[in-house]
Amino acid sequence: MTYELPKLEYPYTSLEPFMDSKTVEIHYSKHHQAYVNKLNETLQDYPDLQEKKVEDLLKNLKEIPEEIRQSIINFGGGHFNHSFFWQILKKDTKFSGKISKAIEKKFGSYEKFKENFTKSALGLFGSGWTWLVLNKNKELEIIQTKNQDSPISQGMKPLITIDVWEHAYYLVKV
Ligand code: MN
Repeated sequence: MTYELPKLEYPYTSLEPFMDSKTVEIHYSKHHQAYVNKLNETLQDYPDLQEKKVEDLLKNLKEIPEEIRQSIINFGGGHFNHSFFWQILKKDTKFSGKISKAIEKKFGSYEKFKENFTKSALGLFGSGWTWLVLNKNKELEIIQTKNQDSPISQGMKPLITIDVWEHAYYLVKV
């Protein structure tokens, strides 16, 4: 079994003007694809691990042979984080239901949450991600991860994320 780029459920243009279509296209078809390819290369000689879901690899890093562990963190994380990211992006949407109530309770208001989340993303030095997660105590928390580290490796459940790698917003030739 090999890992595959998940289908993008919307056209590249559908996040404009917040994310332009060319940036989304390159981010998805080049950057995300590269993580998938490198994950497959990493697991070439590990048929047993190829059978596992990428989530299971990242949740049980201790079980990954040391010689490929960092590659799994980087490329498996890159694959998982982006797959999650594409799923949660939507414009003209309104927070509602349980998560909206939980956010208000934790942060005071949705506006306040947005402010904190933005501050966290802008304050990230270098490449990484900002997340709203359900932490180990089942509480909402805004966290940052470096590079392609994934919160699921720390026993956290991701709810919302923003990719703060330069490739997510700054169009470069690849
Ligand atoms: Mn990215």
